[in-house]
Amino acid sequence: MRILVVEDDRDLNRQLVEALTEAGYVVDKAFDGEEGHFLGDTEPYDAAVLDIGLPQMDGLTVLEKWRRDNRSMPVLLLTARDRWSDKVAGIDAGADDYVAKPFHIEEVLARLRALIRRAAGHASSEITCGPLRLDTKTSKATVNGTPLKLTSHEFRLLSYLMHHMDEVVSRTELVEHLYDQDFDRDSNTIEVFVGRLRKKMGMDLIETIRGMGYRIKSQDSKS
Ligand code: CA
Repeated sequence: MRILVVEDDRDLNRQLVEALTEAGYVVDKAFDGEEGHFLGDTEPYDAAVLDIGLPQMDGLTVLEKWRRDNRSMPVLLLTARDRWSDKVAGIDAGADDYVAKPFHIEEVLARLRALIRRAAGHASSEITCGPLRLDTKTSKATVNGTPLKLTSHEFRLLSYLMHHMDEVVSRTELVEHLYDQDFDRDSNTIEVFVGRLRKKMGMDLIETIRGMGYRIKSQDSKS
């Protein structure tokens, strides 16, 4: 999962990027509205954290422009404390949720998890597929209750496929959502990661759809 952070406060920006990276996301950052708008407009993100008070272009304008151009990723707004008018304006501009400053980073993480899950159609914090279980809260995956030891890349790949269960996900899409903008992207590595995941899971839940990509199919819960 790839997240965009737009926040001009350098300290806060760094804290957010660190916490999100720690939680297993790939993160791109911007420090003003123009740069943030550009990134959100041109790169595919699974969610964005957007401050309202930004230099060059304010957060609400950024959001309105994204929505006008049909950029539909979930957006979590950072608002000044007690500015209820900001919150109303933010929701009207197309925000999915907001957190008022000062906030605990855990709250931002929890709200983002929920937004990403809901955008993918999952209401609960655990996503399951037969014996495979993904806990979005702890960023852990288990097979038949046994924890999988995954690298951050492997986890992201598995998480992306599970959030998009039953969809065929192309390698290009995976590369775009697994690496940040500066990474030297090579879609061949995806194949390697899939191979390792299959081996670690000890089963073949990830289907290869020839010439198209990969898919994890939902399974009936154990009956
Ligand atoms: Ca600000």
